[in-house]
Amino acid sequence: MYYISTRGNVGQIGFIDAFLMGLADDGGLLVPGDIPIISEAVLKSWENLSFQELMLEIFSYYTNGEIPEEDLKAMVYASYGRFRAPEVTPVRRLKDGLHLLELFHGPTFAFKDIALQLMGELYSYVAQKQNRKIHILGATSGDTGASAIEGVKGKEGIKICILHPHQKVSKVQELQMTTVQEDNVLNLSVHGNFDDCQRIIKELFADIDYKTSRHLAAINSINFVRILAQTVYYFYAYFQVRKGAEYRTVDFSVPTGNFGDIFAGYLAKRMGLPVGKLILATNENNILERFVKEGVYRPGTFQSTYSPSMDIQVASNFERYLYYVLDEDAQAVASLMNQFKHEGGITIGEETLRRVQRDFAAHGVEGEECLATIRKYKDETGYLLDPHSACGVAAAERCEGASDICVSLATAHPAKFDEAIRLCGIEQEFPEQIAKLFDRPQRQTIVDGTKEAIVEELNRFYA
Ligand SMILES: *Cc1c(COP(=O)(O)O)cnc(C)c1O
Repeated sequence: MYYISTRGNVGQIGFIDAFLMGLADDGGLLVPGDIPIISEAVLKSWENLSFQELMLEIFSYYTNGEIPEEDLKAMVYASYGRFRAPEVTPVRRLKDGLHLLELFHGPTFAFKDIALQLMGELYSYVAQKQNRKIHILGATSGDTGASAIEGVKGKEGIKICILHPHQKVSKVQELQMTTVQEDNVLNLSVHGNFDDCQRIIKELFADIDYKTSRHLAAINSINFVRILAQTVYYFYAYFQVRKGAEYRTVDFSVPTGNFGDIFAGYLAKRMGLPVGKLILATNENNILERFVKEGVYRPGTFQSTYSPSMDIQVASNFERYLYYVLDEDAQAVASLMNQFKHEGGITIGEETLRRVQRDFAAHGVEGEECLATIRKYKDETGYLLDPHSACGVAAAERCEGASDICVSLATAHPAKFDEAIRLCGIEQEFPEQIAKLFDRPQRQTIVDGTKEAIVEELNRFYA
């Protein structure tokens, strides 16, 4: 297995190099040269595996033999040993035909922990094996930052700097990032929104000299390893709802911002998992909903919502999907992305749109609908959804699926987004790990949202 760029100008590279490269050097995104196809017989043999065992099976198709099996195994077990649920990602029935896949049992109570705990271990492993410095740089709409910091704080040979939009993350998200006291962590609170943060990071990563001389590494979902780790729970959830029975399709509803998590579902489908529809749930920042419905990808105006981790207009991972829906034609991707850069939007042809609609359905869940969904499920089932998971459930109800079962991804614990829960008139009790954050001192630097101001901070920190 080797990796190539969606824009066609990176030679075939191995797993660890792809992991370290993050954004491809030609500005594209790295994808596997060939997606492995898992036969039904092999799927059947995976039915009863634990999450960790399943992850090792899936990764064995992608790691190119570059990491000895026992080393990978140690990293996987260390990562998920820190989860509060023994199943790692338990599935629970919400009502007939609708199941929730709980992805928030990791250290920071959001799904980002699943990939980032493992990536923290991997960065540490590579830093030791190759005796190299690793300077992680990332932008966050709130959850990735907390999770990435948690994955690498205090680790030898690694420094991490996270940009978050000033006062546009929830209180708990802010506390999770800024109450960490280890000296290898820098939090920059940037005047602007998430898209500003992400754009500046992308520019820095695209400057190959800067990236190399500063030893930059990416934890955003531009990193393929993050996507790969997330495919595991699609398989795991599928087996929980279908094992021992006929392998009919299952739909998945996915609260979406950067198109990362839902792309992991698409990858699972391409690998042969019987996935019916992938339901794309957005909030008012609904560029992706418009893409699925109309074939137009054009960022609109940024809006702050009850589900801040999805307040994203430019979806980094969209290009990966474009690559596949255009039949792996890197030239066509490069030219469309160029058009996007110059004209601020792209439109796909009708035939392509039909293919998009075969795989995806979409619904943008607006504020009131989100809150109403939280209230409804609390009243009817006693289950308290966080606002992101509520968008997933609302979209699952609204969209026409293709299967008798839909698994909706619960991407965060409600305690992370108490602002929205309170608006529903619901009082919740915080888990102890979150409650204790409120007494801790915070460390962060507030900066202007310009590349110059950020580079100045980075030069000091990475010196
Ligand atoms: C990041 C995040 C999302 C969106 O995930 P993408 O991979 O960016 O699409 C949804 N919900 C929560 C809670 C998140 O943290």
